[in-house]
Amino acid sequence: MRIRRWFVYREHRAVHIERGADPNCDLCYGEGGWWEGNAAHPEDPDMVACPCNDGPRIRIPYGRLPHTAYSTEPPF
Ligand SMILES: [Zn+2]
Repeated sequence: MRIRRWFVYREHRAVHIERGADPNCDLCYGEGGWWEGNAAHPEDPDMVACPCNDGPRIRIPYGRLPHTAYSTEPPF
């Protein structure tokens, strides 16, 4: 689900709320970043995250008490 710049999704028994890139950004034009060639490895560019994409990330666990959010059970 997306509300303007805000993304809301569920993952790992929690609700995540993140602010996405600014659609009016002059640097990334809302893409949230860009590819930048590496001097040592020009064939292997790195993804550069745009400052406008560095928004707050909120994680709200649900279904379990917070102290059990990081379970010691083995992952399946
Ligand atoms: Zn940007």
